[in-house]
Amino acid sequence: MQIIHSVQAMQATASMLREQSASIGCIPTMGALHDGHASLITASSQENTATVVSIFVNPTQFGPHEDYQRYPRTFDADVALAERHGATHVFAPSADDMYPKGFETTINVGRLSTILEGERRPGHFDGVATVVAKLFQAMLPHRAYFGQKDFQQTLVIKRMVADLNIPVQVKIQPTVREASGLAMSSRNRYLSAEERTIAASIYQALEAGKAIVERGSRVRTEIEQAMHGQLADFDVDYAVAATAEALSTPEQFSPDEQIVLLIAARLGTTRLIDNTTI
Ligand code: AMP
Repeated sequence: MQIIHSVQAMQATASMLREQSASIGCIPTMGALHDGHASLITASSQENTATVVSIFVNPTQFGPHEDYQRYPRTFDADVALAERHGATHVFAPSADDMYPKGFETTINVGRLSTILEGERRPGHFDGVATVVAKLFQAMLPHRAYFGQKDFQQTLVIKRMVADLNIPVQVKIQPTVREASGLAMSSRNRYLSAEERTIAASIYQALEAGKAIVERGSRVRTEIEQAMHGQLADFDVDYAVAATAEALSTPEQFSPDEQIVLLIAARLGTTRLIDNTTI
């Protein structure tokens, strides 16, 4: 497996792979890799001749009081995990290479980036969209793999790819969970043993909301109340039911509409997000 540190070298390698008619799958990550990332790497290595995992803690998607400085950085273990799951390349650029002096351009994906996560984390999705577009320009993938864990992010990226005619097939993989139901996340490393046990209630809340829908209700407040009922231990940013297609929040969902339940909640100093589609 090859490790590449510069944008220029990555582009040269990806161009060469394309000339050899290799198909390239890419997995953009911020490192601290776990089994959720592994599932994306495995999916890519089954569908492509080359699989490039990018590891880049992107400063522009963190707010000023967020965890950019303390975000876990575990490069050697990440490289080993990527290789074990079939990656052929790791792309790990520096922030200076990604954002050289004079950098000015930002991609803004409109309404989708201003609601829910976007409302609580202003500028977050501009940072995500811009870095993903830049990573695509470096890795030149045919396919890109993202996790449903970050549901709103998948919508933002699919919207950007469609709107800008980016010739990349976006593939969304299911959320990988601990046995307790807790969604795997690099940020779970911040949790104490006790908090980790409590954190599984987020999954219980999603299941409680889902149960209301499965019992026949499509009234948004009823679904949301059921979720809130499980979240007493948390400082809840949001626990909402929305349409999976556009994240709109009607009072009542129509029978044929796919619903997504989305939660963002803080436990101590750790902010966790999760979702499920129905
Ligand atoms: P991150 O390193 O947190 O930016 O995540 C990189 C990619 O891995 C994103 O597409 C995430 O949605 C995905 N991912 C993170 N956690 C999980 C998980 N538990 N299951 C599936 N995919 C995940």
